[in-house]
Amino acid sequence: MSSAYDVCVIGSGAGGGPVAAALAEAGYRVVVLEKGPWFERKDFLKDEIVQVQRDMYTPDTRRDPHVVERRNLRGEVSVDERSQDGWNGSCVGGASNLMTGFFLRLKPVDFRQRSELGAIEGAEVVDWPITYEELEPYYDRVEKEVGVSGRVVAHKNLEPRSSPDFPLKPLRVHPLARELDAACGALGLTSVPVARAVLSAARGGREECAYTGLCGSYGCPTGAKGSSLEAFLPRAVATGRCDVLARTTARRLVSDATGKVVGVDALGPDDKPLRVEASIFVLAATAVESARLLLLSTGPRHPLGLGNGSGLVGRHLMSTTFGAAWGDFPYAEYGARWPWLAGEEPWINRCVQDYYLVDDERLGRRKGGTINFLFMHPNPISSAFNVALERGTPLWGWPLKRRLEYWFRESKHLRLELFCEFLPVAASRVLLDPSVKDAWGSPVARMAWSFHPRNHETATYLLERGQKILERLGARHITRPPYGGESSNLLAGTCRFGDDPQRSVLNRDCRAHEVENLYVTDGSFMPTAGSVPFTFTIYANALRVADRIIAALGGPKSAR
Ligand SMILES: Cc1cc2nc3c(=O)[nH]c(=O)nc-3n(C[C@H](O)[C@H](O)[C@H](O)COP(=O)(O)OP(=O)(O)OC[C@H]3O[C@@H](n4cnc5c(N)ncnc54)[C@H](O)[C@@H]3O)c2cc1C
Ligand code: SF4
Repeated sequence: MSSAYDVCVIGSGAGGGPVAAALAEAGYRVVVLEKGPWFERKDFLKDEIVQVQRDMYTPDTRRDPHVVERRNLRGEVSVDERSQDGWNGSCVGGASNLMTGFFLRLKPVDFRQRSELGAIEGAEVVDWPITYEELEPYYDRVEKEVGVSGRVVAHKNLEPRSSPDFPLKPLRVHPLARELDAACGALGLTSVPVARAVLSAARGGREECAYTGLCGSYGCPTGAKGSSLEAFLPRAVATGRCDVLARTTARRLVSDATGKVVGVDALGPDDKPLRVEASIFVLAATAVESARLLLLSTGPRHPLGLGNGSGLVGRHLMSTTFGAAWGDFPYAEYGARWPWLAGEEPWINRCVQDYYLVDDERLGRRKGGTINFLFMHPNPISSAFNVALERGTPLWGWPLKRRLEYWFRESKHLRLELFCEFLPVAASRVLLDPSVKDAWGSPVARMAWSFHPRNHETATYLLERGQKILERLGARHITRPPYGGESSNLLAGTCRFGDDPQRSVLNRDCRAHEVENLYVTDGSFMPTAGSVPFTFTIYANALRVADRIIAALGGPKSAR
């Protein structure tokens, strides 16, 4: 390992992997610092206890917790001081290893919400400094480079595309998807095949999907999932110009009297201290940990934290406004009509985007979201736990056994989940916790969630529409818990990009306004969250920023 690099990337997940691959392939020397271990395909067993219930992918909360503060709509505050929330996947490849891989693009309106839909009192909605058209070529590249499976279907909110269809055919789906298409059609809605960052055919040393069903929350044993671990980091390493340092945690970025970053102080395996020097630094440690690192990295020109002259680092923490409902299809009732119902095919891969924009008498014209359909997660322990508690009073003994039998052996369960606009509010933020420190003496990140009341209104509207689809399909015993708040699997905001240094942390290239050699490429850059899961956008933007960095360094070395 050499001591000085062209580029140092902190975090090897969705924001870090594409930058490492693009820079190394352009001829530059790259080092990636990754806090977590480096797993291989053989480590990704389908064992719920090891992979989900224990902390295989998350730091020990006794040594390295997040503090999570929630303020509900009545203003009541609850605080969890030892939470795993926000540590979604701490290993080489980050949480992209654990994603389900629903890959939906943002739409042009997401880039122009303020201009097209107007200001919202109590929310800091802004236009993005770039347009959909500027990001589109990178979405296209991600589809081809990562390998996205799907099928384009025309619908009223379909975004413009430069390629007519996805590079890989859709994954196999359960026949219930056909019935769902018909039910949506009968309601005047379009059932859209959901593209997936999962290979439907083998390519480049990665096998096709094995349809294991245990996909979200699990690492992929075949390489089919388009994680950073499978889709980007091998490309970077294959150049011979990229070192990936696993179990190496960046503790602080060090800046000099001019304000430039000169190095990263890190702890390697066994807590061995090291300093890594480079010309350019790219932060991609999640919207939570990137903000925390910037706030911890004060310097002579950065008394409030690196690049935090605006005071906005950590502000506008966002997720997706979540909501869910589900219903049953009992085999006893449906078996004769749908003999295939009990089949094992794990995917439905359908969503409805007719309500991406809502135009309603009561709610007016506003951003809505995506209604995504999937089977209930087959994790046996979590499912049994939910079954025991789903009716308010916990079930016990024989009634619980009977209910479990029905759940696991006598019925199929279709679920819908919302990806709904989470309005940016300054009070929703990451800050350094005033009292809780990690095992090495640094304040941990406090995620202080705050919700705009509109989130709730819009999510409820979408849940009502989703419930009508389940009803039309014939689902029994529909359960619709009250509005679900945020989904901490998806994190964005905290370093919003923009053209005005007083009102944003990063410029349009995702370079810190105040630090000439510091870029941020995880979900932090997003000034509004959109109404689809974030990873496709994080990948696309990271490739876009990589192009800017390559240009700043003088272009691809091979081209000189
Ligand atoms: C169960 C689950 C299902 C999901 N499903 C979907 C889906 O279907 N579609 C979708 O679009 N998204 C999905 N996601 C979300 C997706 O995984 C994230 O959006 C994406 O991985 C975020 O990218 P990131 O670069 O911000 O963070 P990550 O990919 O998590 O990468 C950040 C990396 O930085 C490392 N790090 C943190 N601090 C430091 C430090 N100080 N020094 C060094 N390294 C550090 C972390 O260990 C981590 O590896 C899902 C997530 C989960 C958990
Ligand atoms: S093989 Fe398919 S279902 Fe299994 S984890 Fe990989 S992508 Fe998911």
